[in-house]
Amino acid sequence: MQKYSLLSLVRHGLSGHKGWQPLWRQPALKPAYDVVIVGAGGHGLATAYYLAKEHGVRNIAVIERGWLGGGNTGRNTTIIRSNYLFDESAALYEHAVKLWEGLSQELNYNVMYSARGVMMLAHTVHDIQSFKRHVHANRLNGIDNEWLTPEEAKEFCPPLNISKDIRYPILGAALQRRGGTARHDAVAWGYARGADALGVDIIQNCEVTGIRRGPDGAVTGVETSKGFVATKKVGVVAAGHTSVVMAMAGLRMPLESYPLQALVSEPVKPAFPCVVMSNTIHAYISQSDKGELVIGAGTDAYTSYTQRGALHIAEHTLDAICELAPMFRRMRMLRNWGGIVDVTPDRSPILSKTAVPGLYVNCGWGTGGFKATPGSGHVFAHTIARDEPHPIAAPFTIDRFRDGVLIDEAAAAAVAH
Ligand SMILES: Cc1cc2nc3c(=O)[nH]c(=O)nc-3n(C[C@H](O)[C@H](O)[C@H](O)COP(=O)(O)OP(=O)(O)OC[C@H]3O[C@@H](n4cnc5c(N)ncnc54)[C@H](O)[C@@H]3O)c2cc1C
Repeated sequence: MQKYSLLSLVRHGLSGHKGWQPLWRQPALKPAYDVVIVGAGGHGLATAYYLAKEHGVRNIAVIERGWLGGGNTGRNTTIIRSNYLFDESAALYEHAVKLWEGLSQELNYNVMYSARGVMMLAHTVHDIQSFKRHVHANRLNGIDNEWLTPEEAKEFCPPLNISKDIRYPILGAALQRRGGTARHDAVAWGYARGADALGVDIIQNCEVTGIRRGPDGAVTGVETSKGFVATKKVGVVAAGHTSVVMAMAGLRMPLESYPLQALVSEPVKPAFPCVVMSNTIHAYISQSDKGELVIGAGTDAYTSYTQRGALHIAEHTLDAICELAPMFRRMRMLRNWGGIVDVTPDRSPILSKTAVPGLYVNCGWGTGGFKATPGSGHVFAHTIARDEPHPIAAPFTIDRFRDGVLIDEAAAAAVAH
């Protein structure tokens, strides 16, 4: 793999920058693989990367019906945090945050991880109680989270309006300083580049249309728009389309798919130093390195596979942003877009073997899976390679919905990302 460094920059500069290689190959689909991953989002690519790097599996295909990173990975608002309530979730998301902290070095690719702090605003007595509970639970798990008064919140984020005469005054905030953002495309590209260098074939513009099973019920391969591929292990990492892909093997998933949208403003000078989220009035905001305000909304109320959100949701969110930070009232919005998120009944992901031998599933990240990308790929690779869950993934099996052992993060997830 070509190494990115100051030295290579100088060397390529001297030769007119003509020697840079493409980040990944465009290989032809082979007739058989040891493992096939369905979906080249961040989670699928990370899974392939760790399968190759840590488990020595080299004959892997990642099959993507569009372009890599074109699903939710390239559409999200990139909020990263690990301040979840329950021990199981805290362990999973904290595993990811620890990997984020060294990811650019690990991949030799700048994923622009920026630990600028994520602040969650409290507007009601219930919010205060709930967030303080999170602060205490997180600290018991060794995860940083602290409670701020409205004045301390404003000191950390000066554009905030802490006046008492607005609809939902800010009564305090929980701050995770190690939370922040990363560049979403760079994460997909970095993992794709790393996986490709380890021999993984990334096949774009190729849709998986069927999952073939043998007489014993085990997976024998996948049908694709480019032909049949034999394999004994399939990892489905298809986010909003997981139910569709799993139905190809005859499995029904406890998932609902909703459109979730985001929007960005015209770019301005650095004005907003951190990430701010408000579950109660349904909005969250940060500023990208290009200067755009990145604004997220809630899901639509109805299930759909349309990658477009309803206008009234965007309006409601902008209402909230104008109240939280009135200095943005006159800014113009540049564009908006949507993704399809897969939501489980307890708002926690599924990282699991299934009743079909050789079929594994990584899904249910809902509105908040970007932050988990490195950790999710890491533990899911273990699950596939060893055919047994990684200890961190063990509570997130699909069986929890049968056994009633739910990990109910609804309060932590809600609109939050
Ligand atoms: C607007 C929005 C804002 C969000 N904000 C945040 C946030 O701030 N923080 C956060 O942590 N999370 C956020 N999320 C959620 C986050 O984006 C997702 O949880 C995460 O990116 C999922 O990654 P993935 O790799 O599983 O899925 P994806 O990136 O969606 O990848 C799945 C891939 O599977 C492919 N696929 C589907 N069916 C097939 C098939 N039959 N054959 C082949 N390929 C197939 C798709 O084309 C897609 O590329 C947000 C999501 C949206 C939509």
